[in-house]
Formats: sequence, structure tokens, C-alpha cells
Amino acid sequence: MKQSVKLVAGNWKMNGLGASLTEVEVLRAALESEPAACRVALCPPATLIERMARAAAGSPIGVGGQDCRAETHGAFTGDVSAAMLRDAGATLVILGHSERRQGHGETDLLVSAKAEAALGAGLEPIVCVGETLQQREAGQAVDVVRSQIMASLPLVLAGRDFAVAYEPVWAIGTGLTPTLEQIEEVHRAVRAAMIERLGPGIAATPILYGGSVKPDNAAEILAVPEVGGALVGGASLRGADFLGIIRGA
Ligand code: PEP
Repeated sequence: MKQSVKLVAGNWKMNGLGASLTEVEVLRAALESEPAACRVALCPPATLIERMARAAAGSPIGVGGQDCRAETHGAFTGDVSAAMLRDAGATLVILGHSERRQGHGETDLLVSAKAEAALGAGLEPIVCVGETLQQREAGQAVDVVRSQIMASLPLVLAGRDFAVAYEPVWAIGTGLTPTLEQIEEVHRAVRAAMIERLGPGIAATPILYGGSVKPDNAAEILAVPEVGGALVGGASLRGADFLGIIRGA
């Protein structure tokens, strides 16, 4: 396993056309003149993966998908398989993002099956977990993420390259973030659950924080114990903003 180096990954969600690839050029040029201290990845919409992989070829920028189907092929209109993402040039894939759990009814069991499929296709899964505001206010944040970890991580992840992203649902796209103490508390609980599920060998697997990470709060969040990187939505769309976050790692 690589690991212990932080991973900063951008999630473009359903944003970006061919013209947006100029942002990759901005990022690429900056990272070539001053290398990042962390691993860097961008996850564009499926339509851009192949073109972004070409734009990033030979650079330190990895390219990922935002979801994949658990099945390898078949009559699943509109879906893409893990092997298709890999074939297009992706090396990572975000799975179980709250926008998929909530908007597409994805369960922990399905996320686990997708993670297994991703590994099988040679992709590094980034498995997302996180509590809703209601669960946070009811004091259930740690219990919720623990149960998501136990059910969303397939046992085959042991010894493999993957990451977990802790993304409180109420912090995504809202400008709100938990306190640094709250982030540390949940990240420690995620680590404990990962070890319980997959054994002590995953002690260095990165646990990313996601939810309103911006250039001005990235450094303090990335310095929190057990924070092994960031999953960034809105602030990853512009190369200059994303770079500001990368420089905080
Ligand atoms: C996300 O969607 O994974 C995310 C963290 O979004 P934002 O950074 O915009 O809150």
C-alpha cells in the first residue's frame, strides 16, 4: 500500500464541459513548477474522464470517476462499469457519496459491492460516509459513520489501496464545517471502525475530510490528527482554488 502521503481529490460533480479542461492545464503547470506535498486527483463527470486523463497524462494529477455500477456489464441503461472508467483512464472512483446515497437510494450494501467491483477493475475506491444534520444534532454522528464503515467496506479492501472520506452531509456545499475537534473525533472513530472491520493493516489508509473545504480553511483541517487528505467539491472547479487547498497539505 502507498498511503501515509495525504490525498487531495476534487469532485466536479455534474459540472464541466470540454472548455473546463483549461483548469487542469492551470493545475498541471503549477504542480510541475512546484510539486505538491500530497497526491492530487480530479474526478470529473464521466464524459470528461478520457479527455482529462489525456490532459493530465505524465503529470501528478490522477483522474477518477464519481460512481460506478457494481456489475461488470449488461442491460443497465445510463450506467458505467468500473472497467469502463479504467478503460477511459481513471485510476480512482468516488463511491457512496451522500448525493448518491440520498438521490439514488444507495445503501451500504450496494456501496460495498461497488467498492469490490472497483478493486476488481484496478481502481482505488474512495468510500464516502457521513451523518446528516439531524443525526449530528441527535448526537449520533459517531454511531452513524461507524455503522456505514462496517457495512460499506468489503473485506477484500484489506491490504489494498483505498481511502475513506468523512463528509458530514450538512457540510457539503453549505459553507458550514464541523469544528476541528469534531473532525478529529469522527476521524478517530472512523479509524477504529476500519481497524475493527479490516484489521490493523489499514492503520495508514487515508481518511479524507470533505465538506466546504476552501483555500482558507484547508491547512488547519489537513493538520488535524487522522485527517489524511480532503475531498473537495466546489473549490476544485477552479485550478487556482484547488491549488490553494493542495498547498495546505
Ligand atoms: C463533496 O461534494 O464531496 C464536497 C465536499 O463538496 P463541497 O466541497 O462543495 O462542500
